[in-house]
Amino acid sequence: MSEPLPRPFVSLVGAGPGDPGLLTLRAREVLSQADVVLVDALVSPALLAHCPQAEVLNVGKRGFLPSATQDDINALLVAKARENGGQRVVRLKGGDPFVFGRGGEEALACRAAGIAFEIVPGISSALSAAAYAGIPVTHRGLGRSFAVLTGTDRHGPAAYADLAGVDTLVFLMAARHLGQITSDLMAAGRDPHTPAACVQWASTPQQRSVRATLGTLAQRVQEAGLGAPAVTIVGEVAALQAELNWFDPAAMPLHGAQVAVTRTRVQADSTLASLLHGRGAQVSEIPLLRFLPGRAREVAGALGGFDGWVLLCSEQAVRALAQSLLAAGRDLRVLARARLAAVGSGTAQALRDLGLAPDFVPSRSGSRHLGAELPAQPGEVVLHIGSQQPDPVLDAALAARGIECLTLEAYRSEYNDLSAAQRMQLQEAQVVTLASATGARALAGVAGTDFTAAVIGPQTELAAREVGFTRLVLAEHPTLDSLGDAVVWAYRQSGGLSASSQV
Ligand code: SAH
Repeated sequence: MSEPLPRPFVSLVGAGPGDPGLLTLRAREVLSQADVVLVDALVSPALLAHCPQAEVLNVGKRGFLPSATQDDINALLVAKARENGGQRVVRLKGGDPFVFGRGGEEALACRAAGIAFEIVPGISSALSAAAYAGIPVTHRGLGRSFAVLTGTDRHGPAAYADLAGVDTLVFLMAARHLGQITSDLMAAGRDPHTPAACVQWASTPQQRSVRATLGTLAQRVQEAGLGAPAVTIVGEVAALQAELNWFDPAAMPLHGAQVAVTRTRVQADSTLASLLHGRGAQVSEIPLLRFLPGRAREVAGALGGFDGWVLLCSEQAVRALAQSLLAAGRDLRVLARARLAAVGSGTAQALRDLGLAPDFVPSRSGSRHLGAELPAQPGEVVLHIGSQQPDPVLDAALAARGIECLTLEAYRSEYNDLSAAQRMQLQEAQVVTLASATGARALAGVAGTDFTAAVIGPQTELAAREVGFTRLVLAEHPTLDSLGDAVVWAYRQSGGLSASSQV
């Protein structure tokens, strides 16, 4: 982790062409520190998993502002940076901010307003769409130079005369004017037999491409029904696609699948989402719970001077513990004599992130194993940092050994009010993932049980059946990889039908 960003501060960040894996490490870093994120329509929603703490405003078409002009966006950028005494604003833009991204104008607006800014370059579709179609924009013997052009403003046969010496032409925003552009190019002297290609939704599971010649491209693209967003490549290098086309979304096991990943944690863990995306799914993340402060004073009071076991069963519990202590006017030093047990590696890491070394982690993660393996004696009293929801599995495992467990309400969890868009994503998903019993109960409470669900383990499966889910596929092992496999089986079982299209 590098230096924290100052406030106010604007980061103009490139999001890459579509695949959430094509974000830079620097972009992820600034997203994790953002107070506000302004996104465009073409930016993958999966990237927002890197900024769960931030206020997110969609400034793309059909977004936050009905028809946001560039001036509106510039003004909003400056206003958000100044709000609340100074904020960190991330302007997340498709591809690279300085390649037909109007990033220059936004940077000038910051400069004019006296707000410090940085540019975080991104992977531009100009190069990556070609790469994902197996077209190197330069290649020994076929192309020594390339130009990147917009398809919106150069028209007429004279428009391309000055590009006669450029080998490879890459057009953005050309889908709508392809007929005009290709005939202008031929009128300017490009050979109609020049290889050409058009790549739509590059790097995403929806990627499609058409290979043709300059003379036939416009018609082929129309026949294939390709539209925006697409990149068009004209030049001898485009012929290499025949041999180098390596990215085939149709061969991915979740090609065409829409999967809703349900979450019950504050911190978004996008590992599962990117794993599913990597198998070709379109993924939406649905936060089922929201978290509120608990009984801070009770927590601080019970822990003060306590020298027994303190049990933590989630990253949320770790965070709530620290927050409760601060809210009660205390801090982590009240834990000086306590021994800390974490339910699994994620919770253990959350403790370490606070500078606390866990004293015990069970051999397998899960509250059942924590209860069974905790090195405590019969008759001992242990404190569980939890919420208003009891953990019957933990209580039972400890009670069976004669250990008394008191739960401290460090936070409250409530069912989230889903937005209309989130409800739609759930309805359209052929498969939802459930990674905990809490998640199963929360999904039932928030949106019902009419879903095909891939579940991570037997406890989750049991809880899901109890609340009424019937179409369940259990992961072979309680790992995210294995849950990913379960999603593939569930998708095959569902026959590709979404919840809303099933009778
Ligand atoms: N700054 C962006 C470009 C913004 S202009 C960048 O560097 O990529 C928007 C145009 O980018 C679209 O009309 C399309 O031509 C292209 N584009 C963006 N993402 C794309 C993708 N995944 N596949 C194909 N073209 C894409």
